[in-house]
Amino acid sequence: VKGNGRNNFSFYESKMNDEVNRKVAINIRLHRALKEKTLEMYYQPLIDLNTQKIIGAEALMRWTDSELGFVPPDEFIAIAEKNNLIEQLGSFALNTAAEQAAQWQVITPLQIAVNFSSVQFRDCEKLLTEIQQVLLKTGLPANKLDVEVTESLLINQEGELFDMLKSLRNMGVELSIDDFGTGYSALSYLQKFSFTKLKIDRAFIMNLTKNKADQSLVTAIIAMAKALNLKVVAEGIEEDEQKQFLIDIDCEYGQGYLFSPPVTAKKFEALLHQQANS
Ligand code: C2E
Ligand code: CA
Ligand code: CA
Ligand code: CA
Repeated sequence: VKGNGRNNFSFYESKMNDEVNRKVAINIRLHRALKEKTLEMYYQPLIDLNTQKIIGAEALMRWTDSELGFVPPDEFIAIAEKNNLIEQLGSFALNTAAEQAAQWQVITPLQIAVNFSSVQFRDCEKLLTEIQQVLLKTGLPANKLDVEVTESLLINQEGELFDMLKSLRNMGVELSIDDFGTGYSALSYLQKFSFTKLKIDRAFIMNLTKNKADQSLVTAIIAMAKALNLKVVAEGIEEDEQKQFLIDIDCEYGQGYLFSPPVTAKKFEALLHQQANS
């Protein structure tokens, strides 16, 4: 309709301004959150699908700002990556999760998975040293730490990254490829970079009971992972039928709201005690 053009333009323009303003605000408030230590780590159980037992946890960052309210990690992590804040956020996640997991070892020998941004690998040597120091400081056994990275890390990176990941593996640290299937999943990478685990993205699990193509895909991914000696985790299991299908095709591990959402350290510990006493 004629005449609407101008209005639409200013509508989009102000929307764009809102988006820029929000990014700026998040950046400013995030600096403050790091100083005031208002970031938190939550933990989502990793389940052995056959025994239904908790065998690990994924550490996930949570931030509720006094002005902005709850900000989803997807949103603030992307902003932190562009504003030189990701190293600090990453350190916080690693230190907090490792310390927590070291304490939990006396209840159950579980593995803690920590998410790493590709940006944190720009200085591989520094990151490797930091991981070594955190393990030393917390006393967490290296094989109880699982470093989760996404496929985007593997693009355009060769020598230094390869050596760094190899060093992690030689230390005993486990290496997971996260969100598998959503990026550039070149199969050759999986073997070359000595990953130990593959996490199938929730997008493939979501319609698993209805969508035949997803069923074929997930079945094939699991067969391939087994052939490459990789453990497989299905992400985002919400329904019992999905779980059952995954058990039937020999998927060993799972995560999802069906078992538990990410919870505070305190709640996670209660889940561990509950399991130990049952
Ligand atoms: P991710 O690593 O793929 O984490 C899984 C996400 O799926 C989490 O979202 C989790 O809460 C959610 N989830 C788990 N089970 C279910 C389910 O059954 N249904 C649905 N709908 N969702 C489920 P969250 O916590 O919002 O995190 C989003 C992303 O933010 C993460 O995706 C990760 O890429 C990033 N992230 C979170 N914490 C950190 C961190 O400490 N460091 C880095 N670098 N990234 C992080
Ligand atoms: Ca993850
Ligand atoms: Ca994931
Ligand atoms: Ca993700």
